Amino acid sequence: MTRSLEGKVAVITGAGSGIGRGIALRLAEDKAAIAVWDLNPEGAAETVKQIEAAGGKALAVVADCSDKAAIKAAADETRAKLGPITILVNNAGIAPFTPFMDVDDDEFDKVIRINLRGPWLVTKEIVPDMLAAKWGRIINITSSSTQSGSFAQTHYVASKGGLLGLTKALALELGKTGITANMIPPGSIDTPMLRGAPIDPEAYGASLPVGRLGQVADIAAAAAFLASEEASYMTGQTISTNGGRYMGSA
Ligand code: NAP
Repeated sequence: MTRSLEGKVAVITGAGSGIGRGIALRLAEDKAAIAVWDLNPEGAAETVKQIEAAGGKALAVVADCSDKAAIKAAADETRAKLGPITILVNNAGIAPFTPFMDVDDDEFDKVIRINLRGPWLVTKEIVPDMLAAKWGRIINITSSSTQSGSFAQTHYVASKGGLLGLTKALALELGKTGITANMIPPGSIDTPMLRGAPIDPEAYGASLPVGRLGQVADIAAAAAFLASEEASYMTGQTISTNGGRYMGSA
């Protein structure tokens, strides 16, 4: 099912690859104009090319989404070329695997800077557009590891747990403004990040209740719902799109 986001502008961070690209293509199909923010110029350009080939509207913006000045410049360029931003998907992230005792301060700080401080800064930059429009959608891509833990990823799980807390606190504070904040914790989605992880992807997928790895379209479908008008009574919530890896309520 497609839902019309016609006239709306969506920023998707890390949309030059994997899950972010999948969400960008899906929201473009639903008629939003898409700002593809990514560190990687080739990846961002490829996402824009795919959106345009499908008849959508998109803009590539090369930006480090953990850098305050770069975020401000990216938002200004997006507003100038596409208009005010009322949909934000905080998706950019890194996921190193390092045993707890081997994580040094610099690695810990880098993971927190990109996975938690970045979304906090990007959200702060964009929420004024949503307040002005009296409508907004914040969708944070967390991780199923916040629900189950993840071996050799203490810093990563801590960063995504922080993003979970940020989402709920935003939902509470912005609840009466027409802005919702929700999260999707993916589990085992077939992307370059997953393929770089120290696991056997096929064996892992086969071990899940649904018997397969997830595809980016699985996450994109959940994001399209959360971005839509139909999701206006959902805020501070979690759509666990994980093939049954975790079945709890958190
Ligand atoms: P991916 O294929 O590695 O894509 C991530 C994209 O984000 C890349 O294009 C990357 O650029 C970009 N990026 C990284 N740091 C950035 C920064 N500071 N500023 C701007 N762009 C940045 O990963 P993915 O699997 O699609 O993951 C997307 C999100 O889902 C991440 O937050 C991840 O933690 C989360 N997630 C994924 C899974 C999964 O199974 N795949 C599971 C749980 C959670 P470069 O390539 O240049 O670094």
